[in-house]
Amino acid sequence: MPTPEFDVLVVGLGAMGAATLYQLAKRGVKVAGIDRFSPPHDQGSSHGDTRITRQAVGEGAAYVPLAIRSQQIWRELEAELDVELFEQCGVLVMTASTDPQRPADARDFTDNSIELARRYGIEHQVLDAGEIRQRFPQFAPLDDSARGYFEPGGGFVRPERCIEAQLTRARQLRATLITGQQVLELKPGADGVEVICQGSRFKARQVIVSAGIWSAPLLGAPFDSLLRVCRQQLYWFRLDQPAHYPARSPSFILHSAEDRDTCYGFPPIPGEGSVKIATEQYEQASQPDSLDRQPSSADAQRLFRELVAPHMAGLAPQLVKASVCAYTVTPDSGFIIDRHPHLAHVTVVSACSGHGFKHSAAIGEALAQQVVDGRSELDLGSFSLQRFT
Ligand SMILES: Cc1cc2nc3c(=O)[nH]c(=O)nc-3n(C[C@H](O)[C@H](O)[C@H](O)COP(=O)(O)OP(=O)(O)OC[C@H]3O[C@@H](n4cnc5c(N)ncnc54)[C@H](O)[C@@H]3O)c2cc1C
Repeated sequence: MPTPEFDVLVVGLGAMGAATLYQLAKRGVKVAGIDRFSPPHDQGSSHGDTRITRQAVGEGAAYVPLAIRSQQIWRELEAELDVELFEQCGVLVMTASTDPQRPADARDFTDNSIELARRYGIEHQVLDAGEIRQRFPQFAPLDDSARGYFEPGGGFVRPERCIEAQLTRARQLRATLITGQQVLELKPGADGVEVICQGSRFKARQVIVSAGIWSAPLLGAPFDSLLRVCRQQLYWFRLDQPAHYPARSPSFILHSAEDRDTCYGFPPIPGEGSVKIATEQYEQASQPDSLDRQPSSADAQRLFRELVAPHMAGLAPQLVKASVCAYTVTPDSGFIIDRHPHLAHVTVVSACSGHGFKHSAAIGEALAQQVVDGRSELDLGSFSLQRFT
């Protein structure tokens, strides 16, 4: 049987791959997407019902246009498919307490968000502790020195639905989807890449690898020394007193003084009787195929005791649900979107470090523009590999 040939083959159909496949198919490219599972699934980095989206992205200015454009693409998809992807409930970034001796020029995550919002003209409000407590009674226990940034245009997206929607549109636009096949090897040649799976092979003039936590084993050097897989846990705590939660409650990010500890969470999803809250860890690295997928209830209780109970009302420590997910983390927590330095015709997209989903739709669009037009409207230059060499 002849080897199936494509102009572009996208390896990995999670957040980044589904967006890229859809945008390439939209531009009439002969494209295929391949995934070892059947996305959306709960084995990688894109599950757990919700992802925060905000426009004043405290991680840096390069991300702001990507977040804004992604929100527009999700709205377009919602209209095309009659599905709800983006809940614009607002996002509240808080510093839990402020040291009175703090130097005047000190900057934390909340300050960065305010500064970016001002620079980009993003609608926002700066709130003191009293204003936060008055508008959002779920944060009634906050310290008097707490500070907040509220962005009404932010909120959360539904990751599984976003992936599903983009794969559905890609299929409708004649992309080929191959699921349940793991890519084992990429063999570049003079005019393209041979993509080797167990028992099958494909050819493509270009390959885009968006393999999430499995990127390093497939891509080799230098990615095997740049990418770390960090296990994360997600907890849905029982909503004890729903009256604390106004009808339009925001997604939130809470930092302790000097950004020492962080947790983030979402408003209650109607009918679920819980609030999803998570924290982050970057200390321990895991191997993707031996990731411990059992959430720890002891860790959940610690999170509740140390970060939830002192700052939030209306929740009980009992878990309604829990899950394990993983970040792919780079040394500076920025993205890598660049050509593979040793594999010709291969582009690598590692856009995680715990904050990639909100940018995924626009990253897919920019990659498709690069393939078709040779350049993208939004600049991906900040994500080049060069900064690590
Ligand atoms: C717990 C958690 C919370 C997060 N919260 C937020 C948030 O609030 N806001 C935000 O913006 N971002 C957030 N992020 C980050 C965001 O979810 C990620 O940036 C994004 O999901 C990464 O998408 P991806 O396409 O790189 O990986 P994935 O979606 O995991 O996709 C990778 C795909 O590649 C496939 N694959 C891998 N290897 C192969 C192979 N060899 N052959 C075939 N297929 C392969 C996998 O099966 C998978 O489907 C969070 C991440 C986690 C884990």
